[in-house]
Amino acid sequence: MPAPLTSAAQDAAPPSPPAAGRPVFILRGVARTYLMGEVQVAALKDVDLDLYEGEFVVLLGASGSGKSTLLNILGGMDTPTAGTIRYLDHDLTHAGDAALTLFRREHVGFVFQFYNLIPSLTALENVQLVTEISESPMDPVEALTMVGLGDRIDHFPAQMSGGEQQRVAIARAIAKQPDILLCDEPTGALDFQTGKLVLEVLSRINRELGTTVAVITHNAAIARMAHRIIYISSGHITRVEFNKNRVSPAEIEW
Ligand code: ADP
Ligand code: MG
Repeated sequence: MPAPLTSAAQDAAPPSPPAAGRPVFILRGVARTYLMGEVQVAALKDVDLDLYEGEFVVLLGASGSGKSTLLNILGGMDTPTAGTIRYLDHDLTHAGDAALTLFRREHVGFVFQFYNLIPSLTALENVQLVTEISESPMDPVEALTMVGLGDRIDHFPAQMSGGEQQRVAIARAIAKQPDILLCDEPTGALDFQTGKLVLEVLSRINRELGTTVAVITHNAAIARMAHRIIYISSGHITRVEFNKNRVSPAEIEW
């Protein structure tokens, strides 16, 4: 059984950014091993990580380096095979399915590479699916306006470009007012110009709503917009950089 989070583990905290908010996630010694028949695949190995309230962090690494595994653990879709993970006062390390579901519902918004919109529902209706079951949702029209689609609320997914569909997916993710937005390759299926618009929307949400945003990418150019860049390689965090010269997504080229 993984050791409980002790004050000694707290003392070993990785360096924190200047003027950071409080840590919301605290991971210590997190590992995730998959069993493939008789072979063990170590997707994550001994990860120590704090994520701070209100930060925009980019997790950068090659394909297969463990980024999605880490994001799934942060988002309560998976649990570590070793180590500890806390979100504020929630111990996610030993949480069961019901507790993880509640954690996700109350605190986490997800954005994936593919938008997973319901084709038979309009943009507004796709967002309403979430706001109807949320405790303190945003007005769905406001969420769509925030992503620049206030004039497209009655359009169906098939009537929208990939970038617009991704922005509907982002509106859906933020409409429940999550504390943290976890994005796994959000621009992975988009061309450069469209991808930049999506990144601008994520940056705006972080700035204006104060939502902690973590973006996973294998595109190093995107990292330039982050407060902090976390490099992942072969299941390890190999480097952490505080970005002194953040650039707006509009200035990013790839
Ligand atoms: P990334 O998102 O950086 O591309 P992943 O976290 O998806 O990397 O995967 C990390 C490693 O774990 C890879 O070697 C991958 O093949 C393996 N892996 C991921 N998910 C599973 C799974 N469900 N079963 C077995 N192996 C997996
Ligand atoms: Mg991945």
